[in-house]
Amino acid sequence: MDPILSQDRAEFTALLAATLRHATEYVEGLDTAPAVAPVTTPEPEPLPERGYGLAGALDAFARRWAPGFSASAGPRYLGFVTGGATPAAVAGDWLTSVCDQNAAGDGRSSANALERHTTAWLAELLGLDPAFSGSFVTGATMSNMVGLAIAREWLGERMGVSVAEAGVAALGAVTVLSGTPHSSVYKALSMLGLGRDSLRVVPTLRDREAVDPTALRAELESLGGRPAVVVANAGTVNTADFDDLTAVAALRREYPFWLHVDAAFGGFAAVSPTYAHLVNGLDQADSVCVDLHKWLNVPYDSAVQFTRRRDLQTRVFQNHAAYLGDPGDSPDFLHLTPENSRRLRALAAWFTLTAYGRQGHREIVERNISAAHRLGELLTASPRMRLLAPVGLHTVCFTLAENPTEARIAAVLRSVAESAETFLTPTHHLEIPAIRGAFSNWRTTTADVDRIAAAVRQAVDDLS
Ligand SMILES: *Cc1c(COP(=O)(O)O)cnc(C)c1O
Repeated sequence: MDPILSQDRAEFTALLAATLRHATEYVEGLDTAPAVAPVTTPEPEPLPERGYGLAGALDAFARRWAPGFSASAGPRYLGFVTGGATPAAVAGDWLTSVCDQNAAGDGRSSANALERHTTAWLAELLGLDPAFSGSFVTGATMSNMVGLAIAREWLGERMGVSVAEAGVAALGAVTVLSGTPHSSVYKALSMLGLGRDSLRVVPTLRDREAVDPTALRAELESLGGRPAVVVANAGTVNTADFDDLTAVAALRREYPFWLHVDAAFGGFAAVSPTYAHLVNGLDQADSVCVDLHKWLNVPYDSAVQFTRRRDLQTRVFQNHAAYLGDPGDSPDFLHLTPENSRRLRALAAWFTLTAYGRQGHREIVERNISAAHRLGELLTASPRMRLLAPVGLHTVCFTLAENPTEARIAAVLRSVAESAETFLTPTHHLEIPAIRGAFSNWRTTTADVDRIAAAVRQAVDDLS
């Protein structure tokens, strides 16, 4: 054994404790740390010929890279939809690495049973019936990709061909309909060989991001009975708007289509009795995407793909090899997802659900929603700002009351970023340059919201 590696092995316990000190320092600083640090990119260093050992690597990390990390796990980072990581989720993720199980299939480990158990809990939490089976993937992009891959196989089934065997050309032209699709849906269509052009954007309700069911019906009617794919959205990026899933699903009585629902963050509305109505009808989907590294607050690299058609999923993702065996009635995960060897992503989710339960996660979701409402009120107390949509769930989308040009919005965002009090991102809504922020972190308090509002108001007041 390499002598440095051998020494690290002998001191593994002490070195883990040293790593813990780094972790502790980071966690303890999160509430006060700047939301974003000035990004510094250290000069490249040569690949170490002889290593420095773990202690040396920890030093180098602390010196070179850690100072440039953002506080995206902290309470005032509102960019994109950025979840934090609950204490139990961090512990679960840590143990995932320590135990390093391969959740591909039957490697004589309880890992796969744990994943099945966890996806069943998540289905229950989201109000999906037990006919849905779930598998963990890396994120919502991958979950959308897997859902649409199953949809592609379903289109083949309707036409009497197997896309998995014959290839996508056997399908001919495919139509995918959606009101306000997330960009990852286009990416998924590109990866699947269906093409970005297969997506037809359906008009939305007036001044909304939710699809207009009448317009959707007209699009389906125009297909003359040809089966299609509908991507419904439960939580849009700008305004966290929801398609009327019940109305969309009802159209299947008249038209043949696969219903995929992108509920990346919006699915978690289901945990709150006050907001659960937003996902009424989710249960009628054929496939559902949810992200866990957003509103479940587990570390990155975690989403789930649910479907009612595990048979079609197996047809797409089956990995034929004598040593892997036949998928059978309860296929191993390597026959259900793009990966073969897989990290046990379910463990972090299992930890946080076990530690905090439905009530704990409901409290996070409802506190984040209250934070968004409070921020909306504080910002619009200034006549210089206005909301571009009523606060949707946990998202605030606002702009300058006067002259909201892209340059002026950029200036506000720059000065907010310089204050390091919070991090917000630009967008366009109703063709107006705007700013959006989404609350999705378990640490955020009312005091944080007040600091965020003060920083934004200051930045707006500083505009000449
Ligand atoms: C974030 C998001 C995605 C993509 O998720 P990743 O985890 O970043 O791959 C897809 N759809 C919606 C609605 C999202 O909010």
